[in-house]
Amino acid sequence: MTMLALEIGPEGLAAGPVAPGADDEDIQRIPIPATDVWDACRDLLLDVAKDDEVTAVGIASAGPIDMGAGVIAPADIAEWQTGFGIVEAVQKIFPVATVRLALDGVCVGLAERTFGATQTAMDALSISVSHRITAGVMVGGFVVVGRTGNAGHIGHALVPGFDDPCECGGRGCLETVAGGAALLRWARSQGWVGNSLGALTETAKVGDEIAAQALGRAGTALGLVIASVAPLLDIDLVVVGGQVAQSGPALWRPLAAAVATHARLGFLTGLRVLPSELEGLGPLAGAGVLAMTAAEG
Ligand SMILES: [Zn+2]
Repeated sequence: MTMLALEIGPEGLAAGPVAPGADDEDIQRIPIPATDVWDACRDLLLDVAKDDEVTAVGIASAGPIDMGAGVIAPADIAEWQTGFGIVEAVQKIFPVATVRLALDGVCVGLAERTFGATQTAMDALSISVSHRITAGVMVGGFVVVGRTGNAGHIGHALVPGFDDPCECGGRGCLETVAGGAALLRWARSQGWVGNSLGALTETAKVGDEIAAQALGRAGTALGLVIASVAPLLDIDLVVVGGQVAQSGPALWRPLAAAVATHARLGFLTGLRVLPSELEGLGPLAGAGVLAMTAAEG
């Protein structure tokens, strides 16, 4: 019985076997090609499957998605903008497999609940902040998928005091402040010289002032959104993962300060905001949970 997990992220595709003891070395990653994305995705899956009969596949995809139809249209894959039937395509190459699809944020919520920091919680929010920002909302022990599968698009929650245009067509979304592309754009506009999110977080850690300011803005924006969502959901635990979460105090200090200033209701006094321990593996690990659940029927 072979189960696979597939992550369709904003910047790349990743796939790996779902098995006890599977680790980072078993995961294969490729960047999103400019064309023929499905061909590359299929080759990746077949490569990971080897010649085994695949019985279940879990797919974590960047949004938006249509969960019921099994169709995805991730903002960063131009070729799939009109919608790509990923479930049907995967089903064709693995005919006996049960194929399950969920938003990457939902998968992060599932991963934190199964392997991470929210295992002992019933009501929690798990956020992933990297190139894009996504989240899993857990209420009463269940990770909420929403009407169309898109619950968790916290990157488009509004941040008071910000008004930059967002790719979604709105303005002032969290992603326009704290998303990777926005972070890099702002830092460069201030004179920072660098070309990757990794470089930005690393230079912030060693005291680069502009990088620290960029992450400080992101931290404040994240804190404001967390303080907005926490009373709505009545949660006491928020977990923040993804590449940007690994920026150290430059991000976490202003984040904590914004939460402390704005989350003031009595039932929120115990609100904890913690770094994820899943090291960016949240979406793929959550896709693994989907596959395991599918295999159980
Ligand atoms: Zn937006």
